[in-house]
Amino acid sequence: MSRNSKFSNPHAIALIERYQPIWAVSKAMELSGWDLETFMPPKGSFARGNMTGQLTALIQKMYSDPHLLDLLDRLQESQDLTPYEKGLARVMRRETKVYTKVPAKLMQELSELTTRASLNWRTAREKNNYEIFKSDLGKIIELTRDMADHLGYEVHPYNALLDLHEEGFTVQDADEVFGELRDPLKVILEKAATERDSPLALETYDQGSMKMAEIELLTKLGYDFTRFREDTSAHPFTVGISIGDVRITTRRKGYDFKDTLFSVLHEGGHALYELQIDPELEFTPLSGGASMGIHESQSRFMENMIGRSREFARGSFEILSKYLPFLRNYSEEEIYSYFNHVKPGLIRVEADEVSYNFHIMIRYEVEKQLIGGQAQVSDLPELWSELYKKYLGVRPNNFSDGVLQDIHWSGGSFGYFPSYTIGNVVAAQIRYHAMRDIPDMYAKVSDLDIAELKQWLKEKVHVWGATYTPKELMMRSFGEGYQPKYLINYLREKYL
Ligand code: MG
Repeated sequence: MSRNSKFSNPHAIALIERYQPIWAVSKAMELSGWDLETFMPPKGSFARGNMTGQLTALIQKMYSDPHLLDLLDRLQESQDLTPYEKGLARVMRRETKVYTKVPAKLMQELSELTTRASLNWRTAREKNNYEIFKSDLGKIIELTRDMADHLGYEVHPYNALLDLHEEGFTVQDADEVFGELRDPLKVILEKAATERDSPLALETYDQGSMKMAEIELLTKLGYDFTRFREDTSAHPFTVGISIGDVRITTRRKGYDFKDTLFSVLHEGGHALYELQIDPELEFTPLSGGASMGIHESQSRFMENMIGRSREFARGSFEILSKYLPFLRNYSEEEIYSYFNHVKPGLIRVEADEVSYNFHIMIRYEVEKQLIGGQAQVSDLPELWSELYKKYLGVRPNNFSDGVLQDIHWSGGSFGYFPSYTIGNVVAAQIRYHAMRDIPDMYAKVSDLDIAELKQWLKEKVHVWGATYTPKELMMRSFGEGYQPKYLINYLREKYL
């Protein structure tokens, strides 16, 4: 690792040296995870599972290294740290927290349980049988509550879990954000919802042509394919190996092309964050996003605020219609309304940008009650149905489209869902501030020119990596915390 101007405290420098093998193993694991989802032949899964288990154990061992923890203590006790050194200490403390506070036996138990539970969840979903998954889920919740006790929290055990994904975000914050969104979004949803699907959703396309359209669009938007690539996987995701190697994936179903288009823009937003982090932070724990929610704000901004705009429908037409010739039979207005079709439904990942936040609100309510002990796993299907009826006016008639639809709980992931809504809230905030600083932002989107916008995002958000907590970053760059009013205003303006 080359020395740089960001770190001069000797403990910080020594800590970064100690971190190098952790960095290497973590990135090797991410790369192996990417390979598993993209190119690995199916029979490679057994060996890959073993490999992941070994590498995970190695990382745990390295994070529990007494020398590393000692350096971390000394760094935190040091005076006059730069913001980068403070950030380094803060992020390292967070990274080591799980290994130092939660007994290894509990982590091991949880890991074995979630491996089994993921398989049972898959079977339960395929067979539409909640009973197959129910007892595993109950145990996962029990162990997760134990984990929260070890991690420590104030007021509500769910706070310990929220903090794992969104540093400093609490039940009180979440109640405020969702409380502010609830009624205004309900009004917007009622007025904007239309029953009829666009005929564009039924137009079929050639998958190779679609891929060419994506590459041409990404190139036009300034993605540099010497540091970036796009591949295919069942579930779209982004992985940042280094500043010179950021990868996204997408999927193509052969019809309803907006599904692919918006997943590419979404992951492209995540990728842009990783590509624009300060190169001097590379090989340190600061070379990543500030939080799940802030990362998600970048993807939602690209997907919704840019991609679902009228200007983007106009600007992308030439490239898209070259590869998807059926588009020539539709007007710009028809394409725009296809991009923005609002219809409350049962499935989160298919939701439009208005109803999406209700899917998250429901999961937040449910998780809070399960972790807090106000609801039991046996109450879950009924609780789920009632909340769907209340917020979205629909009721699942099977488990697979209800409580069994998401993979998160089977993997022991509680406290993650709210970061999706934080992403939407912050994306709208960013839109407001970006439009103030770049008044012709949308005019330029109609030429697919986002160069100035990318530079702005870099300066406000990306370049800092994880140097600041999400709340500090928001205050620093925008002078305010999470403010749902911008999302409400944006959706009102667009749909009413
Ligand atoms: Mg995302």
